[in-house]
Amino acid sequence: MIIVMKKGADQALADNVVSMIHKLDLKPMPMIGTERTVIAVIGDERAIDQHRIHAMPGVDRVMNVLDPYKLSSRETKHETTVIDLGDGVTIGGEKIAMMAGPCAVESEAQMEAATKAVKDAGAQILRGGAFKPRTSPYSFEGLGPDGLKLLSDAAKRHGMKVITEVLDVRDIDAVAQHADILQIGTRNMSNFNLLKEVGKVKTPVLLKRGMSATVKELLLAADHIMSNGNQNVMLCERGIRTFETETRNTLALATVPLVKELSHLPIIVDPSHSTGKPSLVSPVTLAAIAAGADGILIDVHPNPAEAMCDGDQAIKPDHFVELMGQLAPVAQAVNRTL
Ligand code: PEP
Ligand code: MN
Repeated sequence: MIIVMKKGADQALADNVVSMIHKLDLKPMPMIGTERTVIAVIGDERAIDQHRIHAMPGVDRVMNVLDPYKLSSRETKHETTVIDLGDGVTIGGEKIAMMAGPCAVESEAQMEAATKAVKDAGAQILRGGAFKPRTSPYSFEGLGPDGLKLLSDAAKRHGMKVITEVLDVRDIDAVAQHADILQIGTRNMSNFNLLKEVGKVKTPVLLKRGMSATVKELLLAADHIMSNGNQNVMLCERGIRTFETETRNTLALATVPLVKELSHLPIIVDPSHSTGKPSLVSPVTLAAIAAGADGILIDVHPNPAEAMCDGDQAIKPDHFVELMGQLAPVAQAVNRTL
């Protein structure tokens, strides 16, 4: 942290700041200039409230040197995190993790058709929501515990892993019994109690970026999980809210290489919720892989016209097969496998 005193702030005000830094167990290094005093602070500044220092008499500006997030930062851990789901399925390694399936679990027949299709096309992880966060209280909110069972039974029959959303701290254990990855949705990225509680279980977590969250806030949310014990966190760019209305959200693709610079955690891209348009899913997925994404989370429905949730953005199984074929050379070009 660098503290810049106001022009004309006297020695007594600077001494006051210096003794406060000592009290906080950090080391102040005052530099007295001709116009102002600058105080460099040695030590981990993240434990101090920057606003409190800023509010002290005579302080002009306070600048942080370290990233505010710690556990998710590449400064803390240099090697990229590889999350191992068992049976050879990893996230963050050379192989790209393909997570595909319907937005919501609806029925056994729907899950069987979807699971067979995405597995045959090469996906390793089955997605499907049993607890659905819906903007309207009158929309389908998922099958709940019955949906979890339909989802995990279908995954077992086809030898797949499961990702599904957990909406409520009270459901964590039930969801974790059926899931290999707990999904925290965009609307819950700042639900700090939920983050804390998924930090206390061992199941890996996919943390979606809040639709109005900055990358810094996303990484701080990851720290909320990790500081409670669970280090198996992956991030997901799913588009942010902008003034654009042609796409459901605006996919911030630069988040992928940016997160790779700032963090050691794997980063997944959701082309379905970010674009909301089946016609955009393939090109955006290709771009995401080219940009370095570690995985893709994609809505595939056997019959989108009958889907009870987000049918207008789901791609059909034959589209997914075609996409997997297009992805192979792109993955190879960036030294990844499918
Ligand atoms: C989902 O993946 O089903 C979902 C609800 O996504 P998001 O939280 O990104 O809206
Ligand atoms: Mn959805």
